[in-house]
Amino acid sequence: MFGLIEKMAGVFSVDMGIDLGTANTLVCVHGRGVVIAEPSVVAVRKGGNQVLLDGEAVGRRAKEMLGKTNANIEAIRPLKDGVIADFEITEAMLRYFIRKVQGGRKLMANPQVVIAVPSGITPVEKQAVINSCERAGARRVFLIDEPMAAGLGVGLPIRDAVGSMIVDIGGGTTEVAVMSLAGVACAESIRIAGDELDEAVSTWMKKHHNLLIGVQMAEKIKICIGSAFPLEQEYEMVVRGRDMTSGLPRSILVTSEQIRGALKEPIDLIVQAIRRTLERTDPELAADLVDLGLTLCGGGALLRGLDKRIAEAIDLPCRIAGDPLTAVARGTGMILDNLDILKEILESADDL
Ligand code: ADP
Ligand code: MG
Repeated sequence: MFGLIEKMAGVFSVDMGIDLGTANTLVCVHGRGVVIAEPSVVAVRKGGNQVLLDGEAVGRRAKEMLGKTNANIEAIRPLKDGVIADFEITEAMLRYFIRKVQGGRKLMANPQVVIAVPSGITPVEKQAVINSCERAGARRVFLIDEPMAAGLGVGLPIRDAVGSMIVDIGGGTTEVAVMSLAGVACAESIRIAGDELDEAVSTWMKKHHNLLIGVQMAEKIKICIGSAFPLEQEYEMVVRGRDMTSGLPRSILVTSEQIRGALKEPIDLIVQAIRRTLERTDPELAADLVDLGLTLCGGGALLRGLDKRIAEAIDLPCRIAGDPLTAVARGTGMILDNLDILKEILESADDL
């Protein structure tokens, strides 16, 4: 239980839940919901890894710089592949977001932070996240497995004696988990997710049209006309890039059927991971999933027809969470609101 001093500090601090995602970082504040949702991107000076001027260097502004930086500046995604590739930059990013929420109020006590981390990260990385949050100004840090936070956020009964299944498709990783009794019963984390879909689009453009496109264009194509299942109405889009032979800017017309073909391979890998997890799930929990099925969340859940593609492959109901991009953050917010009850599902430095 919390001591008196901590209770007093709590009165003056803005406790926050953080979804430290590979593509987006979201911050949820006790009683106020999601207050920050920005790309997990930081602009740094090349070589020294020195973060640029605060405010212009993190989040949305930095993402706009991806692929467009000059000789001195580089935009970095510190968590790109689901692991923390650069601790210093991750810490700078966390500090920036935590300060932003506190809004420069100097008299604020240091906040308690509940932070969702990919279930695949190692104890050493977990400790590093805790240290980063503490150095970034947190008084106390709790970790939660991302799938558990997502389960809470979308309203699944993860603390009951029934099986609940979450498939969270983010930027760098897809997390598949079956949960029950406030724990993860069976899970798999693969490094195939949104980024991989973008890369598949880029590769297809090179192979079939000899056209080089940037990462932002690839993502735009995926979001605008990408799909995983035949559409009632198919779409077309004009794509601009650089011709690999002439070296000159060029535009071509692509269709949603073509892009569906380009996305097939990584999507099949995601479906296989779901299938493997189901095959490893205890029969009792598997039985619960026959009726309850699985819930899709994360930005990847928004890909057209992905729910149909998955439902067809595993023959189970598949639903898309409402507001799938904020599911994990909302879950961390629910924990903040019920810290005493939900502490059983958190990890802190004492457990590592
Ligand atoms: P993370 O948790 O790893 O930060 P998110 O859950 O924020 O990731 O999801 C980001 C991913 O979702 C990106 O790859 C992005 O391109 C993808 N995404 C966002 N919106 C859509 C959409 N409408 N269709 C397909 N993919 C989308
Ligand atoms: Mg996520």
